Amino acid sequence: MTDRTIETLYEQVRNAAPAAAPFAPPVLEQVAPGIRVLALRTPTLPPAAHTNVYLVGPADDAGPVVVVDPGSPYGDQQAALDEVLAELPIELVLLTHHHGDHIGGATALAERWGVPIAAHAATARRLAGIVEVSRLIEDGEQVHGLTALHTPGHAEGHLCFERGAATIAGDMVAGLGTILIDPSEGDMALYLASLERLLGRPAGALLPAHGPAIADGPAKLREYLAHRRMREERVVFALTEVPQTLEDLLPMAYGDTPRVLWPLAERSLRAHLDKLVAEGRARVHADARWSR
Ligand SMILES: [Zn+2]
Repeated sequence: MTDRTIETLYEQVRNAAPAAAPFAPPVLEQVAPGIRVLALRTPTLPPAAHTNVYLVGPADDAGPVVVVDPGSPYGDQQAALDEVLAELPIELVLLTHHHGDHIGGATALAERWGVPIAAHAATARRLAGIVEVSRLIEDGEQVHGLTALHTPGHAEGHLCFERGAATIAGDMVAGLGTILIDPSEGDMALYLASLERLLGRPAGALLPAHGPAIADGPAKLREYLAHRRMREERVVFALTEVPQTLEDLLPMAYGDTPRVLWPLAERSLRAHLDKLVAEGRARVHADARWSR
């Protein structure tokens, strides 16, 4: 599945979602020492309608900031960010991963302020010809007082950024809505391993790309891991000796999920099946059917 197909899926889900409340102008909020957030309206996956842009300065709030995930393609939202940056000079644009709702304003912002864009090499590859990434960030690297953590799974080049007791978590977890693992570019086994890795870090709060800050990060990570394991058990339970299609398996494995989300659930089901096949716990057949 291409990025374009995912965009189409997002649009289907958006169109089926109830109309959102009128949008309030973005308000700058302090979420951790030296870290502020501005939630900008983006074309993202409902019920989320915004992507958090994190502005990371020195802990004493003086000096230039790094801007993480300026994802809004909309002029009024970019103007709101510019207004804030007129007070807080910007040094670098940093991307957690390549998805449209995280990079939609990156090029415009970098060009307007004459600053470079930094991301993981796998993100830079995905964005070739779309966004020019001029600085590559590796696992463990220090950027402006942040420690970069490579956390693949939702996207191959996904990075989290840790500072003291707070971690900018990108799309590893959501304060609102769910995280999609799409098998065309995501990997369920890697995603679960990355959740485990974050759980092993000392940080407390998670600052997600969508929704409010999560004060008890470890509790949220344990909840996500438990939820994915529950889902995996359901998928295993749905498998029989007789090979079945995704459509056959979906009602059994995702019967508790609203029907409007089934197109997305089907992608997630496929990601679970890929993991089970790799582990020898499911078999895939030539006609896109799966069995025990
Ligand atoms: Zn994403």
